[in-house]
This record gives sequence, structure tokens and C-alpha cells, in this order.
Amino acid sequence: MSIRGAKIYGPQPPADSMTNWSLAPLERGVEFVCPNCGKATIIRSYKSRKLGISYKCPVCGFEGP
Ligand SMILES: [Zn+2]
Repeated sequence: MSIRGAKIYGPQPPADSMTNWSLAPLERGVEFVCPNCGKATIIRSYKSRKLGISYKCPVCGFEGP
């Protein structure tokens, strides 16, 4: 049975700030506030850390490993 127009809403999984990869529920990702300006929350997935992708703060442009 389906209800016309019904949509399933679920919690959005957190996504990596740079790569936009969604974090798996049990993935050991990191979420931290920008060490430079302290305004932006940066999310990094385990995968992007492993690949050594650097992050860039969307607020101040600070880049880090
Ligand atoms: Zn920043």
C-alpha cells in the first residue's frame, strides 16, 4: 500500500565537507570546528583522511591536512 505523494524522510547522514561523501553510520568520521575562525563545522570522513584530502574552511578559507 502506498499513499500518493508520500515521501519518506529520514535523518540525513553527515557528509564530508570536501568530498561530499556521506558518512556510513558507523564510520569513524570527524566533526570539528575550524581551528582558525571557529565558525564553520568541518566534517571529514575516514576515507578522505586516509586519502589525505585536505579540508578548506568555507568561512575563512583556512586549509589543513
Ligand atoms: Zn575557518
